[in-house]
Amino acid sequence: MNEFTQAREKMVERQLKARGIRHARVLGCMGQIPREVFVAPALAEFAYEDSPLPIAAGQTISQPYIVALMFEAADLQPNDRVLDIGTGSGYTAALAACMATSVDTVERHRELADEAREVLTKLGVTNATVHHADGTIGLPGHAPFDAILAAAGGPRVPAAWRDQLKIGGRLVMPIGDARESQRLVKYTRTGEHEFREEQLGSVMFVPLIGTHGWSEAPDIRSDPSEAIEPAIRSLPDLIRASAVSLPALDAPDFAEAFDRFAQKRIVLLGEASHGTAEFYEARAAITRRLIERHAFRFVAVEADWPDAAIIDEHVRARAPARPDARPFRRFPNWMWRNAEFAEFVAWLRQHNAALPVEKRAAFYGLDLYSLSESIAAVLAYLDAHDPDAARIARERYGCLTPWQKSPAVYGRAAWQAGFGKCEQAVVAQLRDLLEKRLAIPAGDPGLLDATHNARLIAAAEQYYRAMYSGSAESWNLRDTHMFDTLQSLLDAWGPDARAVVWAHNSHLGDASATEMGRIRGELNVGQLCRERFADDAALIGFGTHTGTVAAASDWDEPMQIMHVRPSRTDSYEHQFHQAHVSPCFVDFRQANGDALREALKKERLERFIGVIYRPDTELYSHYAQAELSAQFDAFVWFDTTRAVRATEAPEDRSETPETFPFSV
Ligand code: SAH
Repeated sequence: MNEFTQAREKMVERQLKARGIRHARVLGCMGQIPREVFVAPALAEFAYEDSPLPIAAGQTISQPYIVALMFEAADLQPNDRVLDIGTGSGYTAALAACMATSVDTVERHRELADEAREVLTKLGVTNATVHHADGTIGLPGHAPFDAILAAAGGPRVPAAWRDQLKIGGRLVMPIGDARESQRLVKYTRTGEHEFREEQLGSVMFVPLIGTHGWSEAPDIRSDPSEAIEPAIRSLPDLIRASAVSLPALDAPDFAEAFDRFAQKRIVLLGEASHGTAEFYEARAAITRRLIERHAFRFVAVEADWPDAAIIDEHVRARAPARPDARPFRRFPNWMWRNAEFAEFVAWLRQHNAALPVEKRAAFYGLDLYSLSESIAAVLAYLDAHDPDAARIARERYGCLTPWQKSPAVYGRAAWQAGFGKCEQAVVAQLRDLLEKRLAIPAGDPGLLDATHNARLIAAAEQYYRAMYSGSAESWNLRDTHMFDTLQSLLDAWGPDARAVVWAHNSHLGDASATEMGRIRGELNVGQLCRERFADDAALIGFGTHTGTVAAASDWDEPMQIMHVRPSRTDSYEHQFHQAHVSPCFVDFRQANGDALREALKKERLERFIGVIYRPDTELYSHYAQAELSAQFDAFVWFDTTRAVRATEAPEDRSETPETFPFSV
């Protein structure tokens, strides 16, 4: 037995077995492959030290224990086909060749690739092929693989590797935001788009440099003949490289990628239509995680305040203030009366049921299309608590009552007459309620509700008046009202309260980064949140390429299930479609995301489908210019989507306690 064989056995005992490596083939092959031939002769005597060693081109051969840890995690089987990224000395390729049937190994430095090829040949390894290439695009011609091992650390898993891994296959790689410090992560592909993730601990590998890894460090000038990176990367490539591929919507870890927003004061979740199931389901999954794991306090959505208040009573098991009231009865009722939203409400009620009253997550509506319900709610509250004030309020709101059922008509009348009578009256009423609230600062949800309704009536009065002046003013009043409502809810819940907002992309993407803001002078909730909360607000947009959507062809027309046209080639949606990762999530603010951010700031078309969809005039009716990475902080993508499942209203609340306020 020569001194190297002895040293190798000692290494297996003391560095591997003693630290818990149990895998028989890993221990067998590491006890067999001569590590000393993979390093320079001057370093051979250190070959079995418990440390990494330098090799040519400024690279390193990893510490034996880390190599063993990776192979144990990869669990190579005799019939496996393996992709080894970062050949370096060729040592890991030789080990993989010992444990599996064939190995393709990729190295970006020609010098290292040539040397490794020579050493492997000398050792008689015939089932390993060395390729000189950029390993971050994988080896499409040789895929799929049973296992992929990377000995260089990147910011994320290159999409090509995920695609080139068989279902059931294992991928082990170092991942980290910094070039030279990472976590070792194992992914097991459990389905077409599903991966299970396991953390194996902190490590330090050399950086993975290439198209879908880190770029060459700016201060290191490489020989141009060495440059494998193409100079120009297409936008779909950039998107793919930055995208986090999301598991199936019903997978328990669907929303894990959104944990990064857990410390934000407000997480705003958008939608690119008001009738797409995936947008509701994804927002529900994300919200659920933020509430369950990160103690978010309430959800505020683009629905009318009184409708949402009925949902809030239901999910927090509060006594109904107006037992006969039914939510979401007006056009466009499918927007909230759908099975996807009903499931979320059922979950929230169940989640809350296990909690003490003060810990229950609340649900609110930010919108203002509810004049008559709001007036009824204010009067019901005052009737119960302060009959004198109720009489005054009736008189004040009297100026609006002829128009209550059709508030838009009020707008026309007010505009033509140019009167401010109602405005003064409704504002006076709001002031009264606000003063009352100051007098009873804490814990009266009924008063909070009445105050918000009064606020809404005042805003709605202005809104309907402004609608007829045809300017941006009415939109701005509506979004300012939504923002003010959100702000006052945050105030009411205190400085530690964090909130999730659900609203259309047009409300929560920053309007100043779109033609809404730049050409039409419109602002919105997202922009106001940024101005007020800066980085403490996360604006997350949603998008789709094609599929079906629930929408109407005109206001007050019946809902239809319509086909969404494939996105236009000059749109952002088309770029995401071309990236071929769906569903996925792209964080525009991620470290090292400069190239992507820049590319997504170049103005393009973005599609906005509301409750109305008119495919025939799609370009004019639904597309607007935007700068996507300025408009949102992140984007969630579903390539093909389906319409929400609209539901009917149950007749009687008491008959359907489980499904109220929906029947599914
Ligand atoms: N498995 C090797 C470890 C070498 S260090 C061994 O046992 O020696 C990691 C190697 O990854 C380096 O040689 C580095 O040049 C290579 N590398 C980094 N980025 C790469 C990329 N995009 N494609 C291929 N190889 C890469």
